[in-house]
Amino acid sequence: RHYLERIASHDSQLNSYITAATDAALVRARAADEQRAAGEAGPLTGIPLAHKDIFCTDGLKTSCGSKMLDNFIAPYDATVVSRLNEAGMVTLGKTNMDEFAMGSSNETSFYGPVKNPWDTGTVPGGSSGGSAAAVAARLAPAATGTDTGGSIRQPAALCGVTGLKPTYGRVSRYGMIAFASSLDQAGPLTQTAEDAALLLNAMAGFDPRDSTSLDRAVPDYSAGLGADLTGLKIGLIKEHFDPGLDGGVADAVDAALAEYKKLGAEVVEISLPNTHLSVPAYYVVAPAECSSNLSRFDGVRFGYRCENPTDLADLYKRSRGEAFGPEVKRRIMVGTYALSAGYYDAYYIKAQQARRLIRDDFVRAFESVDVIMGPTAPSPAFKLGEKADDPITMYLSDIYTIAANLAGLPAMSVPAGFVNNLPVGLQIIGNYFDEARLLNVAHRYQ
Ligand code: GLN
Repeated sequence: RHYLERIASHDSQLNSYITAATDAALVRARAADEQRAAGEAGPLTGIPLAHKDIFCTDGLKTSCGSKMLDNFIAPYDATVVSRLNEAGMVTLGKTNMDEFAMGSSNETSFYGPVKNPWDTGTVPGGSSGGSAAAVAARLAPAATGTDTGGSIRQPAALCGVTGLKPTYGRVSRYGMIAFASSLDQAGPLTQTAEDAALLLNAMAGFDPRDSTSLDRAVPDYSAGLGADLTGLKIGLIKEHFDPGLDGGVADAVDAALAEYKKLGAEVVEISLPNTHLSVPAYYVVAPAECSSNLSRFDGVRFGYRCENPTDLADLYKRSRGEAFGPEVKRRIMVGTYALSAGYYDAYYIKAQQARRLIRDDFVRAFESVDVIMGPTAPSPAFKLGEKADDPITMYLSDIYTIAANLAGLPAMSVPAGFVNNLPVGLQIIGNYFDEARLLNVAHRYQ
């Protein structure tokens, strides 16, 4: 009730929710009360949370931030949703996001931009901007997000909350609307690493309905929190301290590293020599996969349909033309071009080769360090509209986060102070399936 009231009274200033699930939430909360009274409550029983509007929710609108799905009510729950439901969590509603998760500022949403609660003239980051803003403004104690190139970590950094992108394959993508299938991964946005561990305990694990989900035991992510960091080897990414990095953000990262040294960690500088290839490789691979994934939105089976089509081609063209926003169209065109005959080898294969080099850099680095650190984003939150007309500048918001997606590695953003009264994030990248260590490293700093 507390959170539903806060959403009702404050969200008009932030626009962090697309749909509130008020009635259903109250029913679920009462059931949780009964469970608790009967002594059957687990750690997440009755805890409210918000879902990014990319996760299918049975009977509750799932728009993916697009006019295309403004009328879409899924007949089933995504695995992430059903697992958190089974753990007893109560869905408060669905959060705003960039259209089909394409963006870094939440300005491409059909439902209008989300405002950053720290300064409503600035963006919350994207594409999980609604989830990050809702958690930051205490309109939800926790939220789900997805991260294809930084969409959990970058908004977490800009809103001053904790965000975790797990290892690719750790969390099921079933029922999560696909953007770029080889990069997409779901994860939690929370106040603390401790809360993130609780959510990951419920979210992670094998799902036969996602062919890329890995059949590997799920540790208790809460169990190791508090472990000593003496002797931890931290690799600091040399290439991330480039001229594009805001000086205040660099200072905040240095201050965080000084804290880690006090906790007994050792910091060494490392080099990821192919890291400059991340943004160009991503902006071939992600659009290529999105152009294929988004071909299902054809006006025939579900979603938006144009009025009075004259024939099938007209139905396709006008339904897609009227319902997709400019950024989604840009990605579909770039991706279709990159996959077309004659260009496939020059762009798509080349990008996949660059991707392998990026991954190999990390494999080499993890031979000598336990975790890798650097800034999450090059600057604190920027002004609404500041980069909206300049896709390339916008794409550079994810310059430090994309490599972890290309390599499939787990990565977090944790709050690391403020620059000009706006929060900044420290990024911590871990080795494959090393989420437990990542969470503890984040927890000890918090
Ligand atoms: N900002 C990046 C993009 O626009 C990443 C988005 C994401 O992680 N979903 O593609």
